[in-house]
Amino acid sequence: MGMLCRSVDLMREGRKRGYAVPAYDTFNYESTKMVFEAAEQAGTPVIIMYYNDGYIAMDTFAAMVKSLGAKSSVPFSVHLDHSPDFETCMRAIQSGFTSIMLDASKRPFDENVKETRRVVEAACPMGIDVEGELGIVGREEKVDRDRFTQPAEARRFAEETGVDSLAVAIGNSHGVYIEEPRLEIELLKGIAAAADLPLVLHGTSMIPVDQLKEAVRHGITKTNIATEYLMYYRDQLARILAGDKPPKVIGALLEAAHRPVVDFIAEKMRVLNPDGLTLL
Ligand SMILES: [Zn+2]
Repeated sequence: MGMLCRSVDLMREGRKRGYAVPAYDTFNYESTKMVFEAAEQAGTPVIIMYYNDGYIAMDTFAAMVKSLGAKSSVPFSVHLDHSPDFETCMRAIQSGFTSIMLDASKRPFDENVKETRRVVEAACPMGIDVEGELGIVGREEKVDRDRFTQPAEARRFAEETGVDSLAVAIGNSHGVYIEEPRLEIELLKGIAAAADLPLVLHGTSMIPVDQLKEAVRHGITKTNIATEYLMYYRDQLARILAGDKPPKVIGALLEAAHRPVVDFIAEKMRVLNPDGLTLL
Protein backbone atom coordinates (compact mmCIF):
# COMPACT_ATOMS: atom_id res chain seq x y z
CA MET A 1 0.00 0.00 0.00
CA GLY A 2 1.28 3.45 -0.88
CA MET A 3 2.51 5.49 2.07
CA LEU A 4 1.91 9.22 2.51
CA CYS A 5 5.29 10.80 3.30
CA ARG A 6 6.92 14.17 3.78
CA SER A 7 8.49 15.44 0.56
CA VAL A 8 11.71 16.24 2.40
CA ASP A 9 12.09 12.63 3.56
CA LEU A 10 11.66 11.38 -0.01
CA MET A 11 14.23 13.92 -1.22
CA ARG A 12 16.81 13.25 1.52
CA GLU A 13 16.73 9.58 0.68
CA GLY A 14 17.21 10.49 -2.99
CA ARG A 15 20.14 12.74 -2.23
CA LYS A 16 21.79 10.06 -0.09
CA ARG A 17 21.44 7.37 -2.72
CA GLY A 18 21.87 9.43 -5.90
CA TYR A 19 18.47 9.62 -7.53
CA ALA A 20 15.87 12.37 -7.95
CA VAL A 21 12.23 12.13 -6.94
CA PRO A 22 9.90 12.87 -9.86
CA ALA A 23 7.42 15.63 -9.02
CA TYR A 24 4.47 16.09 -11.38
CA ASP A 25 1.87 18.82 -11.57
CA THR A 26 -1.45 17.07 -12.12
CA PHE A 27 -4.83 18.68 -12.53
CA ASN A 28 -7.54 16.03 -12.45
CA TYR A 29 -8.29 12.39 -11.68
CA GLU A 30 -6.91 11.02 -14.96
CA SER A 31 -3.58 12.84 -14.88
CA THR A 32 -3.04 11.94 -11.20
CA LYS A 33 -3.83 8.28 -11.84
CA MET A 34 -1.44 8.25 -14.80
CA VAL A 35 1.42 9.61 -12.70
CA PHE A 36 0.83 7.08 -9.91
CA GLU A 37 0.70 4.19 -12.39
CA ALA A 38 3.90 5.41 -14.06
CA ALA A 39 5.63 5.62 -10.66
CA GLU A 40 4.61 2.02 -9.94
CA GLN A 41 5.91 0.97 -13.36
CA ALA A 42 9.23 2.77 -12.82
CA GLY A 43 9.40 1.66 -9.17
CA THR A 44 9.95 5.15 -7.78
CA PRO A 45 8.52 7.34 -5.02
CA VAL A 46 6.61 10.31 -6.42
CA ILE A 47 5.55 13.82 -5.45
CA ILE A 48 2.17 14.95 -6.76
CA MET A 49 1.95 18.73 -7.07
CA TYR A 50 -0.90 21.19 -7.17
CA TYR A 51 -0.46 24.12 -9.47
CA ASN A 52 -2.52 26.99 -8.17
CA ASP A 53 -4.62 27.68 -11.24
CA GLY A 54 -8.08 27.32 -9.73
CA TYR A 55 -9.15 24.41 -11.96
CA ILE A 56 -9.69 22.09 -9.01
CA ALA A 57 -10.17 23.10 -5.36
CA MET A 58 -7.21 22.43 -3.06
CA ASP A 59 -9.07 20.23 -0.59
CA THR A 60 -10.61 18.15 -3.38
CA PHE A 61 -7.17 17.74 -4.91
CA ALA A 62 -5.46 16.69 -1.66
CA ALA A 63 -8.22 14.16 -0.88
CA MET A 64 -8.01 12.71 -4.39
CA VAL A 65 -4.22 12.36 -4.30
CA LYS A 66 -4.32 10.66 -0.89
CA SER A 67 -7.04 8.27 -2.01
CA LEU A 68 -5.24 7.28 -5.22
CA GLY A 69 -1.90 7.15 -3.41
CA ALA A 70 -3.22 4.80 -0.75
CA LYS A 71 -4.26 2.38 -3.49
CA SER A 72 -0.86 2.55 -5.21
CA SER A 73 2.29 0.75 -4.10
CA VAL A 74 4.64 3.75 -3.98
CA PRO A 75 5.63 6.24 -1.25
CA PHE A 76 4.22 9.65 -2.17
CA SER A 77 3.57 13.17 -0.96
CA VAL A 78 1.17 15.95 -1.92
CA HIS A 79 2.83 19.27 -2.53
CA LEU A 80 1.73 22.84 -3.29
CA ASP A 81 3.70 24.20 -6.25
CA HIS A 82 4.53 27.94 -6.63
CA SER A 83 2.46 29.53 -3.92
CA PRO A 84 2.54 33.30 -4.38
CA ASP A 85 1.90 34.14 -0.71
CA PHE A 86 1.67 33.10 2.93
CA GLU A 87 -2.14 32.81 2.88
CA THR A 88 -2.16 30.30 0.01
CA CYS A 89 0.43 28.21 1.87
CA MET A 90 -1.75 28.12 4.99
CA ARG A 91 -4.81 27.15 2.95
CA ALA A 92 -2.87 24.24 1.49
CA ILE A 93 -1.85 23.04 4.95
CA GLN A 94 -5.48 23.17 6.09
CA SER A 95 -6.43 21.26 2.93
CA GLY A 96 -4.10 18.40 3.86
CA PHE A 97 -0.96 18.99 1.80
CA THR A 98 2.26 17.53 3.23
CA SER A 99 4.61 20.15 1.78
CA ILE A 100 4.42 23.59 0.25
CA MET A 101 6.49 25.90 -1.89
CA LEU A 102 6.61 29.63 -1.41
CA ASP A 103 7.92 31.35 -4.51
CA ALA A 104 9.10 34.84 -3.58
CA SER A 105 12.02 34.59 -6.00
CA LYS A 106 11.10 37.74 -7.90
CA ARG A 107 11.38 39.85 -4.74
CA PRO A 108 14.68 41.34 -3.55
CA PHE A 109 16.83 38.86 -1.58
CA ASP A 110 15.98 40.24 1.89
CA GLU A 111 12.23 40.22 1.20
CA ASN A 112 12.43 36.70 -0.21
CA VAL A 113 14.19 35.62 3.01
CA LYS A 114 11.63 37.36 5.22
CA GLU A 115 8.54 35.97 3.47
CA THR A 116 9.98 32.47 3.19
CA ARG A 117 11.02 32.43 6.86
CA ARG A 118 7.51 33.49 7.85
CA VAL A 119 6.08 30.46 6.03
CA VAL A 120 8.71 28.11 7.50
CA GLU A 121 7.99 29.35 11.04
CA ALA A 122 4.28 28.63 10.60
CA ALA A 123 4.62 25.32 8.72
CA CYS A 124 7.50 23.67 10.57
CA PRO A 125 5.69 23.10 13.91
CA MET A 126 2.91 21.36 11.97
CA GLY A 127 5.37 18.94 10.36
CA ILE A 128 4.95 20.50 6.93
CA ASP A 129 8.12 21.05 4.92
CA VAL A 130 8.80 24.10 2.80
CA GLU A 131 10.52 24.63 -0.55
CA GLY A 132 11.90 28.09 -1.32
CA GLU A 133 13.27 29.51 -4.54
CA LEU A 134 16.35 31.60 -5.14
CA GLY A 135 17.33 32.97 -8.54
CA ILE A 136 14.64 33.43 -11.17
CA VAL A 137 13.42 30.56 -13.34
CA GLY A 138 11.75 32.21 -16.32
CA ARG A 139 8.96 30.98 -18.56
CA GLU A 140 9.32 30.59 -22.32
CA GLU A 141 11.93 33.34 -22.58
CA LYS A 142 15.66 33.51 -23.14
CA VAL A 143 17.63 32.21 -20.16
CA ASP A 144 19.26 35.10 -18.31
CA ARG A 145 22.50 34.20 -16.52
CA ASP A 146 22.23 37.28 -14.31
CA ARG A 147 19.25 35.61 -12.65
CA PHE A 148 20.98 32.31 -11.87
CA THR A 149 21.26 31.12 -8.25
CA GLN A 150 24.58 32.03 -6.64
CA PRO A 151 26.22 29.58 -4.18
CA ALA A 152 27.01 32.15 -1.46
CA GLU A 153 23.44 33.48 -1.53
CA ALA A 154 22.05 29.96 -1.50
CA ARG A 155 23.97 29.23 1.69
CA ARG A 156 22.71 32.44 3.35
CA PHE A 157 19.16 31.79 2.15
CA ALA A 158 19.18 28.25 3.55
CA GLU A 159 20.57 29.39 6.90
CA GLU A 160 18.34 32.42 7.32
CA THR A 161 15.03 30.86 6.20
CA GLY A 162 15.36 27.28 7.48
CA VAL A 163 13.79 25.90 4.26
CA ASP A 164 13.83 22.14 3.72
CA SER A 165 14.59 22.32 -0.01
CA LEU A 166 15.63 24.94 -2.53
CA ALA A 167 14.59 25.51 -6.14
CA VAL A 168 17.50 26.79 -8.21
CA ALA A 169 17.99 28.63 -11.50
CA ILE A 170 20.89 27.03 -13.38
CA GLY A 171 19.75 27.33 -17.01
CA ASN A 172 16.33 25.71 -16.55
CA SER A 173 13.09 27.37 -17.68
CA HIS A 174 9.35 26.72 -17.32
CA GLY A 175 7.10 25.68 -20.18
CA VAL A 176 8.39 25.10 -23.70
CA TYR A 177 12.10 25.91 -24.13
CA ILE A 178 12.68 28.51 -26.83
CA GLU A 179 16.36 27.60 -27.08
CA GLU A 180 18.31 24.38 -26.46
CA PRO A 181 18.47 23.93 -22.65
CA ARG A 182 21.99 24.05 -21.24
CA LEU A 183 22.29 23.44 -17.51
CA GLU A 184 25.32 24.90 -15.74
CA ILE A 185 26.51 21.81 -13.94
CA GLU A 186 29.57 23.55 -12.44
CA LEU A 187 27.29 26.16 -10.86
CA LEU A 188 25.05 23.38 -9.53
CA LYS A 189 28.08 21.71 -7.92
CA GLY A 190 28.95 25.02 -6.25
CA ILE A 191 25.42 25.45 -4.90
CA ALA A 192 25.29 21.85 -3.65
CA ALA A 193 28.62 22.34 -1.85
CA ALA A 194 27.54 25.65 -0.30
CA ALA A 195 24.01 24.80 0.80
CA ASP A 196 23.47 21.45 2.47
CA LEU A 197 19.85 20.73 1.48
CA PRO A 198 17.92 18.99 -1.29
CA LEU A 199 17.92 21.01 -4.53
CA VAL A 200 14.94 21.24 -6.87
CA LEU A 201 14.95 21.63 -10.64
CA HIS A 202 11.90 23.35 -12.09
CA GLY A 203 11.23 23.16 -15.83
CA THR A 204 12.57 19.62 -16.16
CA SER A 205 10.48 18.95 -19.29
CA MET A 206 12.60 18.78 -22.46
CA ILE A 207 16.00 18.93 -20.75
CA PRO A 208 18.24 16.51 -22.69
CA VAL A 209 18.65 13.17 -20.92
CA ASP A 210 22.44 13.37 -20.52
CA GLN A 211 22.21 16.80 -18.85
CA LEU A 212 19.43 15.64 -16.58
CA LYS A 213 21.44 12.64 -15.42
CA GLU A 214 24.40 14.91 -14.67
CA ALA A 215 22.16 17.26 -12.70
CA VAL A 216 20.86 14.36 -10.61
CA ARG A 217 24.42 13.15 -9.98
CA HIS A 218 25.38 16.60 -8.68
CA GLY A 219 22.63 17.49 -6.24
CA ILE A 220 19.22 17.74 -7.91
CA THR A 221 16.85 15.60 -5.83
CA LYS A 222 13.42 16.76 -6.99
CA THR A 223 12.49 17.44 -10.57
CA ASN A 224 9.32 19.37 -11.43
CA ILE A 225 7.63 18.16 -14.60
CA ALA A 226 4.42 19.19 -16.34
CA THR A 227 4.66 20.62 -19.85
CA GLU A 228 6.07 17.64 -21.72
CA TYR A 229 3.63 15.00 -20.50
CA LEU A 230 0.64 17.33 -20.83
CA MET A 231 1.61 18.08 -24.44
CA TYR A 232 2.13 14.41 -25.12
CA TYR A 233 -1.29 13.69 -23.58
CA ARG A 234 -2.89 16.30 -25.81
CA ASP A 235 -1.15 14.85 -28.87
CA GLN A 236 -2.39 11.34 -28.03
CA LEU A 237 -5.97 12.59 -27.74
CA ALA A 238 -5.61 14.38 -31.10
CA ARG A 239 -4.12 11.25 -32.72
CA ILE A 240 -6.93 9.03 -31.46
CA LEU A 241 -9.63 11.48 -32.54
CA ALA A 242 -8.08 11.69 -36.03
CA GLY A 243 -7.93 7.88 -36.34
CA ASP A 244 -10.19 5.51 -38.30
CA LYS A 245 -12.74 4.84 -35.57
CA PRO A 246 -12.57 7.63 -32.98
CA PRO A 247 -14.34 6.79 -29.69
CA LYS A 248 -17.89 8.08 -29.48
CA VAL A 249 -17.81 9.03 -25.79
CA ILE A 250 -15.28 10.90 -23.66
CA GLY A 251 -14.66 7.97 -21.28
CA ALA A 252 -13.49 5.73 -24.11
CA LEU A 253 -11.32 8.53 -25.50
CA LEU A 254 -9.56 9.06 -22.16
CA GLU A 255 -9.10 5.33 -21.75
CA ALA A 256 -7.51 5.02 -25.19
CA ALA A 257 -4.91 7.70 -24.31
CA HIS A 258 -4.18 6.33 -20.84
CA ARG A 259 -1.60 3.60 -21.54
CA PRO A 260 0.67 5.54 -23.95
CA VAL A 261 0.84 8.50 -21.54
CA VAL A 262 1.65 6.26 -18.55
CA ASP A 263 4.49 4.67 -20.57
CA PHE A 264 5.79 8.12 -21.58
CA ILE A 265 5.89 9.31 -17.96
CA ALA A 266 7.49 6.09 -16.68
CA GLU A 267 10.27 6.39 -19.25
CA LYS A 268 11.13 9.88 -17.97
CA MET A 269 11.04 8.71 -14.36
CA ARG A 270 13.68 6.07 -15.12
CA VAL A 271 16.06 8.82 -16.34
CA LEU A 272 15.96 10.32 -12.86
CA ASN A 273 17.53 7.17 -11.46
CA PRO A 274 20.76 7.24 -13.50
CA ASP A 275 22.39 4.30 -11.73
CA GLY A 276 19.32 2.04 -12.05
CA LEU A 277 18.91 1.59 -8.28
CA THR A 278 16.06 -0.44 -6.91
CA LEU A 279 14.10 2.23 -5.09
CA LEU A 280 11.15 0.43 -3.54
ZN1 LIG B 1 8.15 25.75 -11.29
